[in-house]
Amino acid sequence: YGDASQKIDYVFKVVLIGDSAVGKSQILARFARNEFSLDSKATIGVEFQTRTLVIQHKSVKAQIWDTAGQERYRAVTSAYYRGAVGAMLVYDITKRQTFDHIPRWLEELRNHADKNIVIILIGNKSDLEDQRSVPTEDAKEFAQKEGLFFLETSALESTNMKNRMGILEIWLERRLL
Ligand code: GDP
Ligand code: MG
Repeated sequence: YGDASQKIDYVFKVVLIGDSAVGKSQILARFARNEFSLDSKATIGVEFQTRTLVIQHKSVKAQIWDTAGQERYRAVTSAYYRGAVGAMLVYDITKRQTFDHIPRWLEELRNHADKNIVIILIGNKSDLEDQRSVPTEDAKEFAQKEGLFFLETSALESTNMKNRMGILEIWLERRLL
């Protein structure tokens, strides 16, 4: 990483969405600290981090975008979704309302994003099991019905980071085929 002369064959965009305070920025920070270079850019209301992976002998730059607080004002614009090949749709397992809003976010995605976008539903804060208000089964069932991947994670404890990276690689590999 970090070699400015490195040739990039593809740039793939992935967006993080979901209600405020569900842990999107922490998830992004986990990617950055554990797996990603600190090649981050902050512009007005938008932030992304990147990591370059080698998949099938091609160098692929994954760009993960964060809404950077815009979700509070329902101001996520179509430019945010444009060109994204993947979306991480995040809710907080301790806040039922954040799960109840998932269909709205899905509708946003379906209105603004590419039809072939691959979506992963993420129930974050799995470390707070004693405060859980969204049963795993409910989310699993919903994901199955809507054709989404599903994972529960803890950005705090870094749980399921490997799975998330694996899914990211699957997305990217699909795009190369
Ligand atoms: P965002 O608004 O979706 O970007 O949410 P943030 O990433 O800013 O996180 C909101 C709050 O939840 C912060 O206080 C985080 O420290 C906390 N948080 C994020 N992820 C986790 C997690 O996995 N477990 C716990 N216990 N707290 C978390
Ligand atoms: Mg945030």
